[in-house]
Amino acid sequence: MYIFKKTADIQQYLQRLRSEGNIIGFAPTMGALHAGHVSLIQAAKQRGNTTVSSIFVNPTQFDNKTDLDKYPRTLDTDIQLLEAAGCDILFAPDVSEVYPPDLQTNLSIDLQGMDNRLEGSFRPGHFQGMIQVVKRLLDIVQPQYLYMGQKDFQQQRIVQHMITQLQLPVQLVRCPIIREPDGLAMSSRNVHLKPDERLLAPTLSKVLFEARSNAPTTTLQTVKQQAITALQQIPQLTLDYLEVIDGNTLQPLNEWTDSDFIVICTTVRLGFIRLLDNVIVKEHGNWCQ
Ligand code: AMP
Repeated sequence: MYIFKKTADIQQYLQRLRSEGNIIGFAPTMGALHAGHVSLIQAAKQRGNTTVSSIFVNPTQFDNKTDLDKYPRTLDTDIQLLEAAGCDILFAPDVSEVYPPDLQTNLSIDLQGMDNRLEGSFRPGHFQGMIQVVKRLLDIVQPQYLYMGQKDFQQQRIVQHMITQLQLPVQLVRCPIIREPDGLAMSSRNVHLKPDERLLAPTLSKVLFEARSNAPTTTLQTVKQQAITALQQIPQLTLDYLEVIDGNTLQPLNEWTDSDFIVICTTVRLGFIRLLDNVIVKEHGNWCQ
């Protein structure tokens, strides 16, 4: 695996690969990699892409300095994991490479309120910072395919919106959530869970799976309320939100018949850790299980 730290170097190398006819697939990350990240690399390889990953803890998407400072950084083991996964190229830049002082990287795209809902209402400015870095990395890497996880459903939806608005020549591929054997969605932040919190954490996915399996036979409002009640019953757990949304607009729904693409998104806090999860209940008009 080739590792680049400088923007100019990776640009030059990728330019050559593109001119030789390679198809570039890109999976941006913030490091502290796990099997969820590896699945993005595997998806790119399955498509025959030359695979590029990036590790960059983007300061502009953190509204909380402590969260930024505490974000796990494990570059050496990340490199081993990427090499084992067959990743071709890693871009691991410093902040000054991504945001040179003389470069205007701020974006002004109307996110149609998608950035203020769900995660956005708990993390002001997060999605503006996120699209800023994704756009900058896309400009540098210029991939034909961009691989992102369903785990961050709102994030990939907002990135798709940006791609559409700016008519960027890249196809977003949404990859399924990779889970621990007990159902907990893998996340870099899981390492911070205390042992008792780790034991409780799979409740989130259990509640979501149950909601999804009840959906075809129970009203949306009942399914939603049952899920909220189940989460609120656990004293150690604080529910930030649980919403049944349209997967395209991210707007809340009242009835299962209101959309062909329905997702239940939730975030809870367990101690100091926020756990995100979601399930797709209906896609292309079909129930999912
Ligand atoms: P992060 O490093 O957390 O910013 O995530 C980088 C990419 O990996 C994003 O597209 C995430 O959605 C994706 N990702 C994170 N966790 C998982 C997971 N458990 N399964 C699949 N993709 C994931």
